[in-house]
Parts: sequence; C-alpha cells; structure tokens
Amino acid sequence: MRSFLLLLICGLIATSVSAAEPLRAVLLDAAQLDDVRAQTLRLADFNAVVFVVEADTSRREIVRASATAKRHDLPCYFWIEVARCPRLADERPELMASLQGHLEWRRFYPNSQEPRDDEVVKTYPWVPILSREGFDAQLARVTKLLDGLPTPSGLFLNDLQGAPSACGCGHPLCRWTADYGPKRTNTKLGPDAAAQFVEQVQKKTRVPLVIPVWATECEAHDKPTLCAGIGCFEGLCWKEFAKQLTPLAERPEPLALLLPFRAFERDLPIYPDRAGWVREAVELMQAQPARHRGTPVPPERLIAVLQGWDVTNREVMAQIAQAQLAGAGGFIVSLVPIEQDWEPRLVRWK
Ligand SMILES: [Zn+2]
Ligand SMILES: [Zn+2]
Repeated sequence: MRSFLLLLICGLIATSVSAAEPLRAVLLDAAQLDDVRAQTLRLADFNAVVFVVEADTSRREIVRASATAKRHDLPCYFWIEVARCPRLADERPELMASLQGHLEWRRFYPNSQEPRDDEVVKTYPWVPILSREGFDAQLARVTKLLDGLPTPSGLFLNDLQGAPSACGCGHPLCRWTADYGPKRTNTKLGPDAAAQFVEQVQKKTRVPLVIPVWATECEAHDKPTLCAGIGCFEGLCWKEFAKQLTPLAERPEPLALLLPFRAFERDLPIYPDRAGWVREAVELMQAQPARHRGTPVPPERLIAVLQGWDVTNREVMAQIAQAQLAGAGGFIVSLVPIEQDWEPRLVRWK
C-alpha cells in the first residue's frame, strides 16, 4: 500500500512529456511487477521499469515481468550490480579491492586483525573492474547474466569505480582507487577501465544502450567527519575521479548518478530540504571535472538514481524535486535497497 501511494505521489510531480522524454523509472525485482503495479506506474506517470538481474534472479520471472511491462507500454531496462559481488569475492578473493594507506577505516572495525607481511586487508565483497583480472572476470559474469534474457531497452551497470573507503579514510564515497598501497594481487588498469568495460559489454551483449552508474567522491565538509581528518578531498580523490570520468563523459550514452542520499549519509541539515545533496551531486559532476582538467557532464545527460527504500513518500518527492531543480535528464526511484556495505578481510597476497 505504501509503495502504491508513493507511486501516485511521484506521478503528481513528474515533469510533462517532451519530445525526448526524460526517463522516469522505478528499479525493482522482476517478481514485484504484476499487472496492477504496472497499471499504477502508468497512472503515476512513470515511463519505464528497471529490473535487477543477479545470478539467482529467475530467468522465467524476468521474461514474465518483461511481457507484463510490454502490455502496459513500459520499456524494460536491466540493472546489474558490478563491483559489489559476494559470489565473485568468495570464489576469487585476490580480485577484491584492498584497504591500504590510511588506517582510519579501523574505527568501524576496531577488532580487525593486523595483516602479516604476506597478508593484505581486502574490502569484502568488492571486486572492481580496475584490474585486468577483475575486469575480465566481471565481463564474463555480466555477459553470462544476460545470456538467454530478452534484450532490454538499456542496461545500467552499477559500481564501475573502486570500493568504498578507497584511501582507507572510511568514507563510503571515497572510491577513486582499488589499491592504495604496494600490496597487489592483480594488474592495475588505466583510468579508462570503466569506459572500456562499457564498450566491451555493449559489444558482447548487443544491448542497444549500456549506461554506467557513477558515484561522486567526498566533499570538503566531510574532512572532520566521514574522512576522519584525512584531506582526501583536496588530495587525490577528485583528481583521479576526473581522470576516470573523462573517458565516459566523452562517450555518447547518458550517465546515471548513484544518489541514495540516506544510505550515503548525505541527509545532513546543511543540505536544503535534507535531500539537497541530490542537487549538489549533479552540480559536482560539472564543477569537479572542470577543476581537475576533466570533462564535465552536463545535468541533462545525468539520470539520478534515488533512494526509494527506507524513506518516506515525502523524502522521495524531495529527492525528485532536487533532481529536477538540478536539471537532471531523468530519474530512477529504487524500490529495492542498493547494497553498498563492506567489511575488512585478510587475504594472502604472496
Ligand atoms: Zn578518502
Ligand atoms: Zn575522499
């Protein structure tokens, strides 16, 4: 009932249909879509659905839900969580990102053991595509996940950056590297890894539109709190971010921006209406690349991915309003939690 209301409310504030209609989608599990919900979405002026595709997602369920969506004239997109992948992390722990450099992340895990010389602390269960081996394993995985499924209108690939707490500061949005230190268990790729990944997925799966989902880095005011005193905002974070974003910014497809304001601890009083970070993040996608010799991404090219779980209807509306104020080219309200947590794991590296 709650989500029914939520959907109706969203519809009331959705923008009017224009020539290039902006995406107004919900992200959900295929099993959650039946005729009633599809009809509700239509009434609420949503114009697409995005299904989560995971290893344990039933193929039949996706085929069924795609047919349901089609009956209601709702184009289907798929969403694959790339880097955060427990299955791959369990099978091939050496592919995980690591926690090296600063030790401030330990405030969240005070009982975590010190690594021996032949051990490295890995960020479980994050397997970024920033190494040759991680890239190849993830490409094979994504290709296999889509095998035998109907072709979607587009595919969202979430988490093509490093793992959270990249420099060791503990900030959930510090993601500029997979290994900030000398202990390496794989081969580092250049800053165009994400763009290459998008290109390869497109080539292998022939999905017409592959849309990377990107996250912003830390902010100046985070220094005493989430960055635990580390000056990563003025350090490498945004410089490396700009290098990685630029090859994507120069590609033709839109970019999605991961903006679960509460899950990312951004529902702070300093942001207007609490959800104001959504607007700020869209603006950061222009300001920060411009500051660091990268290519800015104009707001109309960005699809805002908003938090539709563990929030009130009013908070969903506030996020949509902020995305629209920022001029974002579309939005997706995620009704399913987008897991972003991590924990330290010791792995042998020699
Ligand atoms: Zn950091
Ligand atoms: Zn940072």
